[in-house]
Amino acid sequence: MNRPHNFSAGPCILPLEVFEKASQAVIDFDGSGLSILEISHRSTAFVEVMEKARSLALEHLNLQAKGYKALFMQGGASMQFLMTAYNLLEKKAGYLDTGTWSANAIKEAERFGEVKVLASSKESNYNFIPKNYSIPNGLDYLHCTSNNTIYGTQMKAFPNTGETPLICDMSSDIFSREIDYSQFDLIYAGAQKNMGPAGATLVVVKEDILGKVSRKIPSMMDYELFIKKESMFNTPPVFSVYVSMLTLEWLSRHGGVSAIEKKNRAKSELIYSEIDRNSLFEGFTAKDDRSMMNATFTLKNERLTPLFDKLWQSANLNGLNGHRSVGGYRASMYNALSIESVEVLVDVMKHFEKTI
Ligand code: PMP
Repeated sequence: MNRPHNFSAGPCILPLEVFEKASQAVIDFDGSGLSILEISHRSTAFVEVMEKARSLALEHLNLQAKGYKALFMQGGASMQFLMTAYNLLEKKAGYLDTGTWSANAIKEAERFGEVKVLASSKESNYNFIPKNYSIPNGLDYLHCTSNNTIYGTQMKAFPNTGETPLICDMSSDIFSREIDYSQFDLIYAGAQKNMGPAGATLVVVKEDILGKVSRKIPSMMDYELFIKKESMFNTPPVFSVYVSMLTLEWLSRHGGVSAIEKKNRAKSELIYSEIDRNSLFEGFTAKDDRSMMNATFTLKNERLTPLFDKLWQSANLNGLNGHRSVGGYRASMYNALSIESVEVLVDVMKHFEKTI
């Protein structure tokens, strides 16, 4: 099968071997004669899947035995915008406004308490990551977004918040690079980029930051309850959790986060060097803040758009259109995308330059 080179921003490419195993499990899960979709979520077989997925997530982040719990929840990363505030915002929280998703997180948090936007790059359409801001005392937490999927910026360093809990939305770059994950007190990520299909959201939380707000938290919003019930308070999104487990196993077989980071670095260096070299294109973001996951770029002459679109579409590339708030192009290069796909894109860009 001639699969397209899939640069889609999310849902996005996952490893083919994961798709194969997952599709088989829909018919016959591990030789049981039953589908993964028809067994009880309380069955031993599924409880093992959930436990494996949770422990692999902690293992890949190097957070085992450090007071963290991994949870699979529903409602997407967008639900975490409000859940984090519900569980942790008593008086005042600090937010970095680095894109549409941060702005959405701010909007939700404002329903629960005072929100201080410590820095924002909104004025320049979020094309850089603000630095050199000060962090006031007395914050309940500081919230940031490690990778801004729409704009193609990525935080390379994170604020030193001392005793103040640091929360990070890692929806679009979790498991893509080695960083000290223990600097965060809560990490969340929708599954549908580097982990699995849409439907599950991973939350990794340091237990000792919980239980400090005075408000009553409804069961479905309560991290402590989900920890107590081992992510099984209600029926979890079984298929999404199962495929996430398969993807995390795939990551282990391929050398884990350190090995995948090398590949991701090579892919992003390849595309950015072509964007900088090619006279027809320009990068959208500040160079220092370029994302390894989502490379955003535009044509200097917009009138060439129909010609370039025709070329990349006929080269079997998929999902290269930029988000409407940036325009141009976005090459999303998540963990499962091979360097060969990026080579094809770069060849198309080179060929386009020659023919114009
Ligand atoms: N945060 C980031 C960084 C995202 O990229 C996205 C979605 N692409 C979201 C949050 C929202 O995620 P969801 O659709 O799972 O609610």
